[in-house]
Amino acid sequence: MKTKTSNAESMSEQWKLALQNNYGTPPIALTYGKGAYVWDENGKKYLDFLAGIATNILGHAHPTIIEAVSDQISTLGHVSNLYSHPQAVELAQKLQDLAGDPSARVFFCNSGAEANEAALKLSRLSGRKRIVSTEGSFHGRTIGSLSLTGQESKRAPFYPLLTDVSFAAYGDLAALRKKVSKKTAMVIVEAIQGENGVVVPPAGYIAGVREICDKSGALFVLDAVQTGMGRTGQWFGYEDEGVKPDIVTLAKGLGGGLPLGAMVTLGKRGPAFKPGEHGSTFGGNPVACAAANATIDFLVSKNQLAKVVNAGKDLQEKISHLPCVSTVRGKGLLLGVVLQHPKASEVAQRCAELGLLVNAPNKSVIRLAPPLIITAKHIDECVKKFAQALTEVGNA
Ligand SMILES: *Cc1c(COP(=O)(O)O)cnc(C)c1O
Repeated sequence: MKTKTSNAESMSEQWKLALQNNYGTPPIALTYGKGAYVWDENGKKYLDFLAGIATNILGHAHPTIIEAVSDQISTLGHVSNLYSHPQAVELAQKLQDLAGDPSARVFFCNSGAEANEAALKLSRLSGRKRIVSTEGSFHGRTIGSLSLTGQESKRAPFYPLLTDVSFAAYGDLAALRKKVSKKTAMVIVEAIQGENGVVVPPAGYIAGVREICDKSGALFVLDAVQTGMGRTGQWFGYEDEGVKPDIVTLAKGLGGGLPLGAMVTLGKRGPAFKPGEHGSTFGGNPVACAAANATIDFLVSKNQLAKVVNAGKDLQEKISHLPCVSTVRGKGLLLGVVLQHPKASEVAQRCAELGLLVNAPNKSVIRLAPPLIITAKHIDECVKKFAQALTEVGNA
């Protein structure tokens, strides 16, 4: 196993002296990963049930990604968007196929914030300028995407943001209806609010948002950055409700661990970018697209989304019986474990000590977002460690 240890200062000490403090100092320095496991600088092994925040959907160092990325970087690493290349075309066609929509059109970028930024700019080309988002939402950290984000603590230091953005309570169609008018350019919602603690809207919400957008002529943007690419057992997260949004944004799992985002327009409502109206130097980079193509091929060939549904049910059921657990919400392999006491950060920390990586999006919720390739053995190991952490923290 490859671990590089510095005998002078720990990596945390070195981090502090060289990086911005916007993340605080991460307590663990990872140096190696394989499948659902990662190892830190001291050789300690962890079961990774966070997967780079819902990103490494095939786990670490997956052979199919290694092969695709190695082949691509040794053939053609980067070209910019002044040239077309086969990996981007193939990936855009795959996204059209997965959406079942030959009229879908893809813009590639490098992150979720950029995907939502693209949707925001595109919607304003309609001539309408008002935006409606939801309370508690997370859509990114750039000024544009932060303007769409319904979390005051993240917004406050950066006012003024875009005005003309209003927020409706999440999951509440009556509240949304009141905010949306014929002046609304777009309504943006997540299929599940991941960063807000894995908040699941009531059944029918997505279909209801569609109806409100149809009445007002606003574009319906579904932010599937966290929920997309099979995480919930569906490709994009609107499939259950029998309707389609006008735009889907993707990132996190899309590149199978490489930086890649996409804004996908579905159908023909709404404006389209004309040459020169938007761009990204790295967006749709051949190496990132090769990783995404390999990831999608793997998920499709293994019928992995059906396995995600079953693994998710198993995990949810087993966790829901553990001590101090109030409920487990979410879908597929994006789960929020709601604790009876606001001790989520202590529980997450104890899990790490026991060799299990999870995170606490807020004081009473633990988020589980493992790689989509986990097996029953990984689930049992997670449940065992999680149970121990809950018992110890609960009794402390
Ligand atoms: C993570 C996330 C984003 C932002 O993605 P970045 O790649 O960090 O810019 C946007 N929307 C949702 C729903 C997310 O979970």
